[in-house]
Amino acid sequence: KNIVVAIDGYSSCGKSTLAKALAKKLGFIYIDSGAMYRAVTLYFIRNEVDITNEADVKDALQHIELNFHSRDYESHILLNGEEVFEEIRQMPVSESVSEVSAHKMVRHDMVKQQQRMGKSKNIVMDGRDIGTAVFEDAQVKFFMTADPKIRAERRFNELVSKGDTVTTLEEVFENLAHRDYADTTRVESPLTRAEDAIILDNTELTEQEQLNFALERVEP
Ligand code: C5P
Repeated sequence: KNIVVAIDGYSSCGKSTLAKALAKKLGFIYIDSGAMYRAVTLYFIRNEVDITNEADVKDALQHIELNFHSRDYESHILLNGEEVFEEIRQMPVSESVSEVSAHKMVRHDMVKQQQRMGKSKNIVMDGRDIGTAVFEDAQVKFFMTADPKIRAERRFNELVSKGDTVTTLEEVFENLAHRDYADTTRVESPLTRAEDAIILDNTELTEQEQLNFALERVEP
């Protein structure tokens, strides 16, 4: 049977950094489930989809096709064939994604697609509900956390390195706090640690140290 490694946790805890490194080391496919919610959010913003209108949301979802092309263990997403990897990381999407991803229909659609991707291949998938809803029977589950200030600094530096000169550290901190709150309190599969998930607090770990920690638990 194929192997699934599930990585969940708060926003900007380094889930994707670990997931990518693990996938590379193990020769697995990395899938960034957050990118799917972000791409849907981008589509909703561009097309002014009214999230409170069920018919609108349903119609929009029917017009969205998501694909991944994995290159160098990056998880690049295509929204209706368009490369949106950069745009989905920017603040307008970050500000609306938790609202969009709390929608029952959106989640239902994404989870179905994610389960299909993990059916026959060895994968590492990161997100908020991977170990609790998408792959409840994943062989290995991690639940990641880190000091909120450190998380905000890491994400802020990432935005700056991508050329963002308007967003402040303060705004990033607020956004992470808002998303954590929204993600943990929503009705549809809220962010929570699966009982059998291994906790990984990387506040004081280097990338290599956290990779070693995880590898020891994946490889018997
Ligand atoms: O992982 P990332 O920070 O890119 O995810 C963006 C947002 O997408 C999260 O804050 C959360 O609202 C939503 N998400 C989710 N379920 C997942 C992955 C992401 O609800 N499995």
